[in-house]
Amino acid sequence: MTVADELLANLDKIVPWHLDLYQDLHRNPELSFHEVRTAGLVGDRLADLGYEVHTGIGGTGLVGILRNGEGPTVLARADMDALPVREATGLPYASTAVATDPGGRETPVMHACGHDMHVTCLLAAAELLAEHRPRWSGTFIALFQPAEELGTGARAMVDGGLADVIPKPDVALGQHVMGLPYDTVASRPGAALSAADSIRITLHGRGTHGSMPHYGIDPILLGSAVVMRLNAIVSRELPPGHFGVVTVGSFQAGSKSNVIPETTTLLLNLRSYDDRTRRQLRDAVERIVTAECEASDSPAPPDFEYTDPFPVTRNSPDVYEKVSAAFTEHFGDKAVLMEPSTGSEDFSDVPSALGVPYLFWIWGGFDPDTYHRAEADGTLSKVIPGNHASTFAPVMEPTFRTGAAAMTVAVLSYLSRPA
Ligand code: ZN
Ligand code: ZN
Repeated sequence: MTVADELLANLDKIVPWHLDLYQDLHRNPELSFHEVRTAGLVGDRLADLGYEVHTGIGGTGLVGILRNGEGPTVLARADMDALPVREATGLPYASTAVATDPGGRETPVMHACGHDMHVTCLLAAAELLAEHRPRWSGTFIALFQPAEELGTGARAMVDGGLADVIPKPDVALGQHVMGLPYDTVASRPGAALSAADSIRITLHGRGTHGSMPHYGIDPILLGSAVVMRLNAIVSRELPPGHFGVVTVGSFQAGSKSNVIPETTTLLLNLRSYDDRTRRQLRDAVERIVTAECEASDSPAPPDFEYTDPFPVTRNSPDVYEKVSAAFTEHFGDKAVLMEPSTGSEDFSDVPSALGVPYLFWIWGGFDPDTYHRAEADGTLSKVIPGNHASTFAPVMEPTFRTGAAAMTVAVLSYLSRPA
């Protein structure tokens, strides 16, 4: 029996408290950088467990530190924020919360990405470690970050002085619940999640009457040419089989049939698995947009505003080797190799800033039978909602148990003290 198994044999005792907390967090989701109540609950609990707690790091971020003698320092992270989504799960603990978004509009709020589950599972690992100190040694840091959904929360904690309050970790760990069976944990070495950039592009035309197009410069025609050209970047400029995504997610211009408007605004999303491709995609977008504006005799150069940047998540092969071996020991054949995901995370901003190797893995939140049947039928996308869907709802108890176990097993792969 491993030390992790020994600790996890006590999981039953803490499940009810944690599921209450999970439902409480789920009912009371908070938008990015507004995780005040969530951080308060987490901080109180960590303090009760004997952690040294530091709050208000990069806004609502906090850490709990448990020093337990000689040995490595392990940092484990959970994100706390929810999304502006109206919940449609029909669950008894569904959110009916509303909040004001950064644009000043009222919006429904929902934990549609499972960050409430991440918080609960990390607190469970923190509790098991606090209550079984003789079975491990070293230092454990539980980090709860704000605003993952904006891609800026981890960076805010770094800029907010994180390195001044924590000892330097030897390794950083993080996990995300996704559309897999709830008994399954998946990780991989190397690029695991893509880098992402969002770009707001303003194209300048010259407005005029719709009947007299020769007096104006039509930004809708200009925008259309840009969109067509942008869709050739991946197919014509990246080597075949090389991963990249260029999506135009929004095209806004004009409001009346007989008015040629002044501007067009495009919102783009780019994804890649390495810095070179990331740069290549950005450069190609800027080159094409600038050239199309010149071709249209645009009265002003285009404006590029980069928002919501996410780094690539590139797992350390050494950390992967150690933790995935521990996963296999604990989960057997339910510990699997993860397919690279096109999703993105800002988790790695903390370990990258601290110069620390890391592992980020995913685990499932859905009924295994339903999942495997849908996988065989090819109906997975109809049966299992994606993260951010209004119906995204991990099956509470088994998902919590797997996530709590995965975090505990991973942390103890570094900190356990064999009997
Ligand atoms: Zn998300
Ligand atoms: Zn997420």
